[in-house]
Amino acid sequence: MKILSNLLSLFYPKMCAACGNALQQNESCLCLECLLHLPETENYKEHNNTLRSLFDGRTRVEEVASLMSYKKESNVQKILHNFKYNGQKEIGKYLGEYFGKQLITEERFRKIDFIIPIPLHKKKLRKRGFNQSEWIAQGLSISMNIPYRTDILFREDFTETQTKKNRYARWMNVKEVFTLKDFKSIKNRHIAICDDVLTTGATMEAAIQKLQQVNDIKISVITLAAVIY
Ligand SMILES: [Zn+2]
Repeated sequence: MKILSNLLSLFYPKMCAACGNALQQNESCLCLECLLHLPETENYKEHNNTLRSLFDGRTRVEEVASLMSYKKESNVQKILHNFKYNGQKEIGKYLGEYFGKQLITEERFRKIDFIIPIPLHKKKLRKRGFNQSEWIAQGLSISMNIPYRTDILFREDFTETQTKKNRYARWMNVKEVFTLKDFKSIKNRHIAICDDVLTTGATMEAAIQKLQQVNDIKISVITLAAVIY
C-alpha cells in the first residue's frame, strides 16, 4: 500500500492547501513554510481576550479561542475555502489537532468535558457531503483527549411549507435555529462549541443560547479562524 501511495503521489502530488505547492512526504495539508507563517492569534493564552468580548452583553461564555486571524485574499481564506468547498476535509482535522495541542497546555481548556461541532443544515450537508465543524471537532478531540458529541445539538430544517416557522424566524431576525436532544448528559458540564470561522458571532450566539437551556452548563467557543481577534 505504501509503495502504491508513494507511486500515486509521484503522479498526483498532494498540494499545500494554502500556497498550492506540492507537499513533501513528511508534510500533510500544509507545507512547512505555510504552517510556520500561519497568522496565529494566540488569544487562547488570555482569558479576557478581544474575541471573548465579542459576546459581551449578548451571552455568557467561558473561554473563546481562535487559531488564526481571518483576512480576505489571505492564506487563511484559501485554506478554509479548500477545506469547505474543495472537499479537503482532512484540513479541518489537521488544524483541529494542531490547535488542540496548544489549547491543552492551558488549564482553562483542560476542564472542557465535551466538544460539540456546530451542526450543518441537512440541505448543505447533502450538498457538501460533510460537516466541516465535525472534522475540526475530530482533530481537537484527538489532541485534547476530550470526546466530541454530534447527538446533542441539531439544526432545525426549514422547508417551504413551514411558512409559520419561516415567518417566525424572520421576525426573530435569526436565520439559524437550533434544537437539542439528549441534553441530560451535558447537565452541569463544560461544553466547547467548535466551528470554522467566527465572524459576527450570530450563529454561535444562537447555538450558545440554545445550549444554555440546559442546567448549570458552561460554554466555551473554539474556532479555526476569526475575523475579529
Ligand atoms: Zn504552502
